[in-house]
Amino acid sequence: MSTLEIRDLKVSVKLPEGELKPILHGVDLEVKSGQTHAIMGPNGSGKSTLAYSIAGHPKYEITGGTVTLDGEDVLAMTVDERARAGLFLAMQYPVEVPGVSVANFLRTAKTAIDGEAPKLRTWGGELRGAMERLQMDPAFAQRNVNEGFSGGEKKRHEIVQLELLKPKIAILDETDSGLDVDALRVVSEGVNRVRDNGDTGVLLITHYTRILRYIKPDFVHVFVAGRIVEQGGPELADKLEAEGYERYAAGAGTAK
Ligand code: ADP
Ligand code: MG
Ligand code: MG
Repeated sequence: MSTLEIRDLKVSVKLPEGELKPILHGVDLEVKSGQTHAIMGPNGSGKSTLAYSIAGHPKYEITGGTVTLDGEDVLAMTVDERARAGLFLAMQYPVEVPGVSVANFLRTAKTAIDGEAPKLRTWGGELRGAMERLQMDPAFAQRNVNEGFSGGEKKRHEIVQLELLKPKIAILDETDSGLDVDALRVVSEGVNRVRDNGDTGVLLITHYTRILRYIKPDFVHVFVAGRIVEQGGPELADKLEAEGYERYAAGAGTAK
């Protein structure tokens, strides 16, 4: 059982001129293995800032609060250490890794995280199995990471990583964006498989309620202007689908 604990997290984005623009104004959240939490909010509310801050992106400065994974100080860790500690961050805009094949990338990542290379005898089968479950062509393993990947291929590749790396906590930022209905279903089933093994907690960040028809969250947190403004169960997502974010924006102002 693992717990990601975020306490009163305050974050500013570093502007090119060196100024700091406050984005997160005190976020509290606790995610345990086997749970699925959805963070939902309008564009510009700071959802990606939360994901990037936990990932250790250098563009963001933590100005207050704590993030711990099973009591360990995540904010003191390097990006690599965070991954080895069991944090998985699938980014909204995955980067290209020129000259590195999917197969090599995954093997290197698995080796880095486990501290030893996966057994050759079983690794090939695991990789093929994970790709098959996401309905990917085996030839995909020889392509360079994210080079010319379609939106759907990027997302499937993320979920293959998720299945193979078996993180303690997975943070998925807008995994649903740009997916057609079939890809959304396949990707969602992958997330559900990982969640259902019980060892991984999922923090699903999304603007739309669509993906929540396939991935049932245990908890929904509404995020507006850098704060969680309402929390509830899955029924809260249905309410958002019907009513949108307007009524929060009216009270809280937007993040602009
Ligand atoms: P979301 O993921 O909810 O759409 P983001 O975390 O991407 O929101 O952005 C939160 C806020 O931070 C937005 O108002 C955005 O304009 C601002 N922001 C992010 N990066 C920069 C930047 N480099 N310069 C100025 N503002 C930024
Ligand atoms: Mg956005
Ligand atoms: Mg975002």
